[in-house]
Amino acid sequence: MRRHENERVLVLAPTSADAELSRAVFADANVACHICRDLRDLAREMDEGAAAVLLTEEVFVAGDAHELLDALRRQAPWSDIPVVFLATAGVTSAAAAWAIELLGNVTVLERPVRLTTLVTTLQTAVRARRRQYELRQQVIDLKQADLALRRQSERQRLLGEAAAILLATDEPNTLMHALFAKIAPHFALDGFFNFIVSDAAEGLRLDAYAGISDEEARSFERLKLAEGIAGRVALERRPVTVNRIQESDDPMVRRLKDFGFHTVYCHPLIADDLLLGTLTLASRQRESFDPDELSFMETICTYITGAYERVRLIRELRDADRRKDEFLATLAHELRNPLAPIRNALHITRLAATDSAALEQARAMMERQLEQMVRLIDDLLHVSRITRGKLVLRKERVELATVINGAVDTTRPLIEAAGHALTITLPPMPIYLDGDPLRLAQIFSNLLNNAAKYTERGGHIWLTAVTDRGNVVVSVRDNGVGIPQEALPRIFEMFAQVDRSLEKSQGGLGIGLTLVKRLVELHGGSVEANSEGVGKGSEFKARLPMAVAPVSPARDSDKTQKPTPLRCRILVADDNRDAAESMSMMLRLMGNEVRTVNDGEQAVDEAAAFRPDVILLDIGMPKLNGYDVARSIRSQRWGAQPFLVALTGWGQAEDRQRALDAGFDQHFTKPVPPDVLAQLLSRLKR
Ligand code: ADP
Repeated sequence: MRRHENERVLVLAPTSADAELSRAVFADANVACHICRDLRDLAREMDEGAAAVLLTEEVFVAGDAHELLDALRRQAPWSDIPVVFLATAGVTSAAAAWAIELLGNVTVLERPVRLTTLVTTLQTAVRARRRQYELRQQVIDLKQADLALRRQSERQRLLGEAAAILLATDEPNTLMHALFAKIAPHFALDGFFNFIVSDAAEGLRLDAYAGISDEEARSFERLKLAEGIAGRVALERRPVTVNRIQESDDPMVRRLKDFGFHTVYCHPLIADDLLLGTLTLASRQRESFDPDELSFMETICTYITGAYERVRLIRELRDADRRKDEFLATLAHELRNPLAPIRNALHITRLAATDSAALEQARAMMERQLEQMVRLIDDLLHVSRITRGKLVLRKERVELATVINGAVDTTRPLIEAAGHALTITLPPMPIYLDGDPLRLAQIFSNLLNNAAKYTERGGHIWLTAVTDRGNVVVSVRDNGVGIPQEALPRIFEMFAQVDRSLEKSQGGLGIGLTLVKRLVELHGGSVEANSEGVGKGSEFKARLPMAVAPVSPARDSDKTQKPTPLRCRILVADDNRDAAESMSMMLRLMGNEVRTVNDGEQAVDEAAAFRPDVILLDIGMPKLNGYDVARSIRSQRWGAQPFLVALTGWGQAEDRQRALDAGFDQHFTKPVPPDVLAQLLSRLKR
């Protein structure tokens, strides 16, 4: 119904002269009118829309009213079309009474009627009718809003149910099928194709599908990027909709056409900028999807991407958890390994108290095993500190040869025990590095240690250093068990270990190489592993930037000077009696005068009485902790004199700082190697 037809007055005049007159009068009064020929014509025009009807008693009586009544019945329920009825006897006219009865909303004007009365009556009727139309529009608007609301809440419910499905399963294939079953009826979907990005083929692989036979799916299994709709979506990374596929000759949709689909929506699944795959939703019943349906499908695809991410993260977590469990098992095993020989050796010292050769052998055995445990725990602490970004390098100018000699000294017992030959080739001129001497030595001793471990008895190890454009490249090569090609890329990862059945030596925790890599990187270098394969030996190369200026000679001679044993007065305070006792025995055997105490208060008292040169203080002690003891001693008149050494299990920078703040001169992490103590004491006496 057009707007201007809703505004017009339908006029049925008895004669054409009347009709023409009315048209002229109404035109003057700005009332749109349409002249009808007879009642049938009027009825037809009413179907087209009208603001009001003007009738006279003659036409109503003479005409056949049933068509007009039918037309009124056909009007919408909201419609109550006003009829202005002209009768000579007014409402008392029989025709008027009949019209009121049959036509409902009738205004009777008595003839002769003044023109102004007629015009204003009609204008009022038109206004009333306009109001009816307005109300009708409001009802329509309300109904539409209601419909939209219902649809929206339906979609929300569907999204909620979809989300529940996506959260309920960790298996992508099951997830896709369950989700499709849920949404398919709402959009008349008949199939879906979920392609995922396959690393190997650099294309897409069909991972899950519905709506086509397995045979059809096989013809569809792999797509190159840009091939088919999914390939194009993967390449362009944006959704594509194709409508009226059956009418299309585009080769891009040939397969979909063969499968009988009419419309598809294909969406890229992208998480963190990484393309995981695509999802195509397809219908054989629809020619196209509405915009709001497409926006719903887009949301669903975003949900699916989230679910895929979740599944991937769950797998990663499970993997990490499994590796952690394996690591804990290995750790327990590796920590227990040295305990058996230590226990045996202790037993031997008891049984063979007078056999000095056996005692010496037992001592050497315990020393070796203890060394291994200390190394293991040190590695663990270092890795954890590096991982948390807490390892601070104590950099100085060092000569490569010195560092390498240190590393070789540490690993020599292991290399010799396995009967390996070691060939060291260094450049003729001294090479200097800016680095932490201890950590640099740790890099090479770890590599040498591995070379010795993973080489069969009587093997050969080569340590070679060459310079290369401002760097020094140190290679540690062996002719041992080698590393399978597929294990090489992950060999530096934490806990990475090649299948144990390949290992001919005792194992470890799988953190040695992680430590090597991180330490080299902290020194601004890089590291790589090479092997021709199993049984063909391995080579590890560390590339480190060289320092330009040489090391100061004073420091160098400082290092090479042998410590001379001299006598000190030493107080040892530790609540672990064995620790205190063994330490004091050792210090006494080095020629010092030693006293021991087992708590903080005793430490303060004994320090005042004994006035030692050096005090070795445990930090965690009853009554007064090591920090408080240090502070108390430093507050005494004589308290500035003794050299205070803190011994703790914690060696992080902040522990060191805390010790220095409390008045300690030095901080050591337990266990302190005897030669480190000896060096310290000799330096103090000088
Ligand atoms: P660990 O030796 O404690 O297992 P690492 O991190 O030092 O841990 O080494 C990781 C793995 O790399 C070892 O378990 C071993 O399988 C392999 N590997 C390291 N060095 C060598 C080498 N020189 N020859 C053969 N395999 C090696």
